[in-house]
Amino acid sequence: MYLSWFSDILSHWGVGPTRNDKEAPVSERNYSARKRVLVTGCAGFIGSHLCRRLLSSGAEVLGVDNFFTGDKENIRDLLGNSLFELMRHDVTFPLYVEVDQIYNLACPASPIHYQYDPVQTTKTSVHGAINMLGLAKRVKATILQASTSEVYGDPTVHPQPEEYWGNVNPLGTRACYDEGKRCAETLFFDYNRQHSVRIKVARIFNTYGPNMHPNDGRVVSNFVVQALRDQNLTIYGDGTQTRSFCYVDDLVEGIMRLMATEESVTGPVNLGNPEEFTIRQLAEQVIKLTGSKSKIQEHPLPADDPRQRQPDIRRARELLDWEPTVPLVEGLQKTIAYFEDRMQGGDFSD
Ligand code: NAD
Ligand code: UDP
Ligand code: UDP
Repeated sequence: MYLSWFSDILSHWGVGPTRNDKEAPVSERNYSARKRVLVTGCAGFIGSHLCRRLLSSGAEVLGVDNFFTGDKENIRDLLGNSLFELMRHDVTFPLYVEVDQIYNLACPASPIHYQYDPVQTTKTSVHGAINMLGLAKRVKATILQASTSEVYGDPTVHPQPEEYWGNVNPLGTRACYDEGKRCAETLFFDYNRQHSVRIKVARIFNTYGPNMHPNDGRVVSNFVVQALRDQNLTIYGDGTQTRSFCYVDDLVEGIMRLMATEESVTGPVNLGNPEEFTIRQLAEQVIKLTGSKSKIQEHPLPADDPRQRQPDIRRARELLDWEPTVPLVEGLQKTIAYFEDRMQGGDFSD
């Protein structure tokens, strides 16, 4: 009797088993059945969509972010979800948590942001990968790396298959990102060979959609925001360089399918939309869809800007039975609606 009174006092103060825990048989507790998933870079553009999808699939999500380019607004609606936990943390420092899966997305992805503090960018990719791989090794989690089409640099093979080793300038201003991501891939494959860590490497091609930051600096968000403000669209160079744009829902579906593959599938796997456009075509499409009065204005082309890019997605089709479903016009319409909504709500000032 005395013991039960004592444990009631403890549980009242949140110590020891709660009344519900005491009453629920072990088989009904969810901690062993529910997948615990760590998402680094959770407040960023892709991370915020991924967290939402994981939660709706029934997983428990631990989101980690240092908020360098992430925005709390992107995950505000998740904060009240008891299966979501947010942790401010920089992946260049060790992290000790217990999880079953890790999606390693932490890294600024837009050239203006990754070039702001290039040393920190390389540290994020390299030290971040070491820490997350060390964590995966200790807890025997499967870990997916958000790698990038930038590992192909300014490609001389077109479209780019996974076998292509790339054409990267190791000394240029993009190298902090490109070489950081290449080194992270090396670490992933060495942890796999040396320590049997279960790895998945996704090479993500240009992805766009809602939750991009208006000052992100990448081409789709720049053009949409400029068009909605009737400002000139800033084309770098003559606009004949090409990119292939993937809508974020398609991308998230692809990385979740990759995570679900059997252990022997490590990647790398290209994930992107093979529909290729010139940057000028993109600008014209955005002006048309927004009905904007904006004109196109040419600016200097940044150094080492890749001339052309298109994913060869045969491997993703075969291994994941995946291909993008959202055409550019439809994805742009959704992205434009998102930015319009937030600008009308007064969220973004000029
Ligand atoms: P983003 O900049 O919107 O998100 C990156 C997130 O990582 C941000 O929330 C940022 O605050 C966080 N972050 C940065 N450094 C960190 C650190 N040291 N510790 C903890 N958090 C940190 O970019 P995104 O487009 O969502 O990209 C997500 C991932 O996908 C990145 O790794 C990027 O390299 C990769 N990727 C994206 C694209 C794309 O087109 N969006 C293409 C290829 C690869
Ligand atoms: N690490 C971590 N969380 C863990 C385990 C490891 O952040 O749960 C980090 C730790 O900082 C370590 C790195 O991952 O330096 C690499 O771990 P590993 O076990 O491969 O190497 P070691 O500890 O021998 O340096
Ligand atoms: N770009 C542009 N105007 C902008 C932003 C980017 O013309 O306002 C160009 C950029 O030079 C590159 C392409 O659009 O050729 C894609 O740039 P982004 O930064 O989105 O992605 P990445 O170069 O990393 O593929």
